[in-house]
Amino acid sequence: MSIGYKSFHESSVKDPKGFWTEQAKLVDWHKPFEQVLDYSKPPFAKWFIGGQTNLCHNAVDRHLKDRAKQTALVAVSTETEQERAYTFEELHTEVNRMAAILQAHGVRKGDRVLIYMPMIAEACFAMLACARIGAIHSVVFGGFASHSLASRIDDAKPKMIITAEAGMRGGKAVPYKPLLDEAITLASSKPEKVLIVNRGLSEYSTVANRDIDYASEREKHLNTKVPVEWVDATHPSYILYTSGTTGKPKGVQRDTGGYAVALASSMRLIFGGNPGETMFTTSDIGWVVGHSYIIYGPLINGMATIMYEGTPLRPDAGIWWSLVEKYKVSVMFSAPTAVRVLKKQDPAFLSKYNLSTLRTLFLAGEPLDEPTASWIHDALKKPVVDNYWQTETGWPILAIQRGVEVMPHKFGSPGVPVYGYNMKLLDEATGAELGPDQKGVVAIEGPLPPGCMQTVWGDDQRFVKTYWETVPGKTVYSTFDWAIKDKDGYFFILGRTDDVINVAGHRLGTREIEESISSHANVAEVAVVGVEDQLKGQVAIGFVIAKDPAKVANMEAEVMKTVDSQLGAVARPARVYLVSALPKTRSGKIVRRALQAVAEGRDPGDISTMEDQSVLAQIKQVIGK
Ligand code: AMP
Repeated sequence: MSIGYKSFHESSVKDPKGFWTEQAKLVDWHKPFEQVLDYSKPPFAKWFIGGQTNLCHNAVDRHLKDRAKQTALVAVSTETEQERAYTFEELHTEVNRMAAILQAHGVRKGDRVLIYMPMIAEACFAMLACARIGAIHSVVFGGFASHSLASRIDDAKPKMIITAEAGMRGGKAVPYKPLLDEAITLASSKPEKVLIVNRGLSEYSTVANRDIDYASEREKHLNTKVPVEWVDATHPSYILYTSGTTGKPKGVQRDTGGYAVALASSMRLIFGGNPGETMFTTSDIGWVVGHSYIIYGPLINGMATIMYEGTPLRPDAGIWWSLVEKYKVSVMFSAPTAVRVLKKQDPAFLSKYNLSTLRTLFLAGEPLDEPTASWIHDALKKPVVDNYWQTETGWPILAIQRGVEVMPHKFGSPGVPVYGYNMKLLDEATGAELGPDQKGVVAIEGPLPPGCMQTVWGDDQRFVKTYWETVPGKTVYSTFDWAIKDKDGYFFILGRTDDVINVAGHRLGTREIEESISSHANVAEVAVVGVEDQLKGQVAIGFVIAKDPAKVANMEAEVMKTVDSQLGAVARPARVYLVSALPKTRSGKIVRRALQAVAEGRDPGDISTMEDQSVLAQIKQVIGK
């Protein structure tokens, strides 16, 4: 039954307390909350004050009564050709074992545990085990290398790090343990213990008194039961680092109660998943989509979830659809980039399997272009739902909320504001609210709804300054995205207002990449910009001025290697051009927008503030545009 979007959204922003009290019934509370919202210190919103709950209990234990024998987790690796399904009961047992290992090695409520792991079942056990004992996990994407890891270790100061010796990609082992060892050497904060899941994929060395082996630890705790630690709703559940405009990644801190409620409600009202069904989200646990819609969302909703290690093309382009058929997937969540990869393959792979259980495909993380949306829609003949959100919010901000009302889709738009979000489109210069078809910054009026970031880990000031003080004359949360809104209230996202770029749905800070490139001995100056790419949406392109122009023979490859080893291949620029000058304003600021325009073959627009206007012509020549 359709609730009616307009009135539903209106009630959520006009009466947030009443609205969220109702949604909070979707999760189990050990102790009921006394106050729905404390917004006495804006912009810090605290939800469900006085309430006590636990994410692991809501994701696992509470389903044991009705769904013990039902599948909870399917871990599929087309890399190691392993596939294993765990019922809720089995998942419960494994999570207890993992929690027992954590406790045996001194991890307690509030301690941080960094998880640097491939997409294997043990990573899910680790996240849930942390939640179970009230430890705060911080998952770092496996594609990040030692410097990225080290900066996160220094910020989160984990007591323990959980890793595997290797992942696998495209048939090749990707070592994790040596990168982690290097990161720990680089970091000033040292973990007491490193727990290693040995998959038998690659050799590794161990450090005495620090490194422990998961398999033998697990043997010791086969029957140990670890009671759930009931935590306050506001207790931090995890920290997830994300890139911004500075070189230092921000630790997005999430609470427990608000997150559980937001996910439980979004699973029903946005994703339309029913308990007992299967959800397949093709992201990675290192990203926010993985946290919310591989691990916590589906499990809280009593659904089975699929963790997939591998590419969408191995053994062939039908692999994902074969999993949809085999596990009767009803809700699928992926990214436009993945669809663009599949679009290059034979469309017969999509008609080969029985996809009758699949109701909806959700896509997020980057703009969904019309050809990609139409192609997948025509191939699947199922609704394709674009949704827009950020690491900071933890769940969608804009979407067609089919569980509220099945509104029409408009190509190029992720839809309308999701319930709970009081969205504004504001003029960047004046802060004035804009009318239909005017371009502005997407902002959210406080309080942010449940599930959104509480603060920047360890740095309340940075939270306020970064997100809430950028629009003149107003204290509003800035998404740092441009958009226009049409007369029907649909938003069209037009790209970032800052120097953050989006490569294949992954957010990367150009400053971080620049800092890494600068560490190369022959780099005098560097600028990195995001440039449009047919497949990945955007790619990073570097422009480098060499200190010694006589020593540049292998410079591009060397610079790429530097980025690979420090940040990881995920941040590697697609091209690095050697130039003799960079476009700058008279005050010496690099004009990245002009560089981007030139690299995309566009007119750079007004360049009158530029110190030396001939620089762009030289750059055009270097890149051959
Ligand atoms: P992340 O925090 O890494 O998920 O990146 C969030 C950013 O990705 C947003 O601020 C947008 O710039 C972009 N983004 C996410 N979803 C969409 C979407 N559906 N359409 C357009 N851009 C999106």
